[in-house]
Amino acid sequence: MKSKDYLGSTLKRIEGKGYKAYKDIQGSYDFKEFQLYMDYVQGDPFASPSRLRVRVPQKRAQFPKSFFSSRVRRIALEDYLTREFGEAISRVAKRSRGTGMSGIIYIDNCGQEILERTSMVVTMEYVEARISLGLPAQGRRVLAKEAADMFFKEIPLMVKEAMLYENLDSERIRNHVEGNEDQEFLRQELLKRGLVCFVGDGSILPRKSGVIDLPMDRETATPFSSPRELQVEVDLPNVGRVKGMGIPAGITLIVGGGYHGKSTLLRAVERGVYNHIPGDGRERVVALEDAVKIRAEDKRRVEKVNISPFINNLPFLKDTVGFSTEEASGSTSQAANIMESLEMGARLFLLDEDTSATNFMIRDVRMQSLVSRDKEPITPFIDKVKLLKKDLDVSTIMVLGGSGDYFDVADRVIMMDQYQARDVTSKAREITEQYRTERIEEGGGEFGQIIHRIPLKKGLDPTRKGKTKISARGLYSLQFGRQEIDLSLVEQLVQASQTRAIGDIMLFCGHLIDGKKTLREIIEITLQQIEIQGLDLLSPYRGQHPGEYALPRKYEIAAAFNRLRTFHAF
Ligand code: ADP
Ligand code: MG
Repeated sequence: MKSKDYLGSTLKRIEGKGYKAYKDIQGSYDFKEFQLYMDYVQGDPFASPSRLRVRVPQKRAQFPKSFFSSRVRRIALEDYLTREFGEAISRVAKRSRGTGMSGIIYIDNCGQEILERTSMVVTMEYVEARISLGLPAQGRRVLAKEAADMFFKEIPLMVKEAMLYENLDSERIRNHVEGNEDQEFLRQELLKRGLVCFVGDGSILPRKSGVIDLPMDRETATPFSSPRELQVEVDLPNVGRVKGMGIPAGITLIVGGGYHGKSTLLRAVERGVYNHIPGDGRERVVALEDAVKIRAEDKRRVEKVNISPFINNLPFLKDTVGFSTEEASGSTSQAANIMESLEMGARLFLLDEDTSATNFMIRDVRMQSLVSRDKEPITPFIDKVKLLKKDLDVSTIMVLGGSGDYFDVADRVIMMDQYQARDVTSKAREITEQYRTERIEEGGGEFGQIIHRIPLKKGLDPTRKGKTKISARGLYSLQFGRQEIDLSLVEQLVQASQTRAIGDIMLFCGHLIDGKKTLREIIEITLQQIEIQGLDLLSPYRGQHPGEYALPRKYEIAAAFNRLRTFHAF
């Protein structure tokens, strides 16, 4: 390790030289308070920025051990410090210091969820931030004074403001860490109590807008309050007793007039597979980790999925046990989404009428009379939802304002009425007695089989023009070799850093394909490895930090395989 003065004199020496001269600053430097690892120096001012790490010894950073004494706590602290560092960058960095990327400093972005990430590492020995930096240039000439400013003024100030415990708000850190722990506890508690989700009283479910994930202003939002019949109390390890709605396993209907908050409730539950930051409004909304949103997704590809529990007797005798298509319809795509999630181990399905195929959801008595059973390939969800629970112990929560036929199969009915939840189960039961539907059950005696697919190496090629090419383009698009994977309708993917991780997880999974292991086994082995070794395991960079990953769930990883248009399985 060299001294920081050495970095200073190297910069002086290369002032005004060609950009390549920056390569001389690669290496590690002792700044006394912290160490700076200049891992990778960019080739020109427009190329992707240089990558570095700053590491502060715990002797100086002094984070109390209790804030990272368990995995859940450490993940929350790392997440919190990433946010603090990001804010320090916005306050301190001058940014525009010349051509191209000159002057930018960057750490991975965070959203409303607390996720395991690689942007910050906290250990007993040190705290390390993984950042990128655009080395300043005028045209292609080194601007060493500007660079020196970044290294000797900006970065030390960011370290001081965001990485030393003494300068941070300990109450806010505590809330973040303990909040994460409480939410994890709540999720475990669901399993113990036979619940599938919890929505805490006082939660703010609606968002600022359809594209902004921040909570709606407290003045305009109606806070959630649970119907008496469904109210449960849980004692959390940190904040103590909380009250809210606990939805038991089984089949739950959310009904109510249009625009009364049905989809908003379901979306909050959907996101409840993740923990949320304090102030999000959903930090007491928790669902089973194996909750999967199911929707129609016409035009998607499907590779050898057994959709026969829902679809049979297609025209031209098309196979539905190993169903493949380049362009699924609304109903076949929704059936495939269900079967693929079951393959991965889903325990709770979340469906919304807004994003479902009508002919997949319902088939009423009049239609049954007109189009006979043998002319309709689809067994509607209404005839399978109870069998899903009976045979596979999979619960369902669905938003359905348009069909009372589902009263027959629902264990409970929640009505949203001007953003207030009410339990209307007994009323719905009375109605079932009063107006019998006369419809014929078409589901048969059992749900049907889940077939585990075995992926093939064929088609899983991460290269383009001879080079490995895997990159996320924002949240919803993943470049994998020559293929572009469309993830725009995978609704529980929440961060571009997850998409980025999925790309490299697919590459890692590729090495495990042996013609014997199933897709689920391969993904689970990979996630176990990540749990042991951390997400750094995925790093495609040699000698550089992998600072922009966040952990995805197995369902979203499988979703990417399933949407890769060259994916092959048997
Ligand atoms: P539905 O699915 O019943 O038609 P939505 O859930 O889409 O209704 O909600 C309709 C509108 O009401 C949305 O603009 C949403 O932001 C708003 N909204 C939902 N819940 C609340 C609430 N608790 N307080 C205030 N506004 C809400
Ligand atoms: Mg809706």
